[in-house]
Amino acid sequence: MKNIVLFGPPGAGKGTQSEKLIEKYNLIHISTGDILRAERAAGTHLGIKANQYIVKGELVPDDVVIGMVKNKIKENINSNGFIYDGFPRTIAQAKALDQLLAEFNISISKMLALEVNEDELTKRLLLRGKTSGRADDQNESTIRNRFKVYNNETLPLIDFYRNQGKFAGINGLNSIDGVFSDLCDNIDKIN
Ligand code: AMP
Repeated sequence: MKNIVLFGPPGAGKGTQSEKLIEKYNLIHISTGDILRAERAAGTHLGIKANQYIVKGELVPDDVVIGMVKNKIKENINSNGFIYDGFPRTIAQAKALDQLLAEFNISISKMLALEVNEDELTKRLLLRGKTSGRADDQNESTIRNRFKVYNNETLPLIDFYRNQGKFAGINGLNSIDGVFSDLCDNIDKIN
């Protein structure tokens, strides 16, 4: 079973690449951002609470997202595997994910990190904001805060997975197909 953490800052292309990867490898897409936005659209208590963090570019509390991921894994435990997109975002989330997978006798196969500089990310996010309707993609100060949170809370995960021998960096500035092909090369090496 493949368990792939698709890692990278906001705007790196994780969503775009996830869509292509789930189709090619028949995997389940676990995007905590998508799940939170769906909760908000459905007007649930969780969604409304989470939105208070999302609009500021802050992280939703760990226990909330860990609970959501746990449900999704349980529901799909007999699948070919999972692409984790936008999760884990903190060391606490990564540790919880390891523990959760261990309960099912599985583990993370690889962390594939899309590398893109902040100038390019800002351009991409502002462009996406024009059509996505996402308030957090439309405001430059929110975007800057998302980078700050990413650098402080999320970037340390690279060492977390590197220490487990699971990290691979991918140049996210290539074309969509070029990035996809680099990702596939790495995934094909997983047994
Ligand atoms: P994304 O769609 O991954 O860019 O996520 C959008 C927003 O949802 C983030 O800026 C956070 O506020 C929240 N969010 C998504 N995933 C997580 C997570 N794993 N941990 C905490 N907050 C998250």
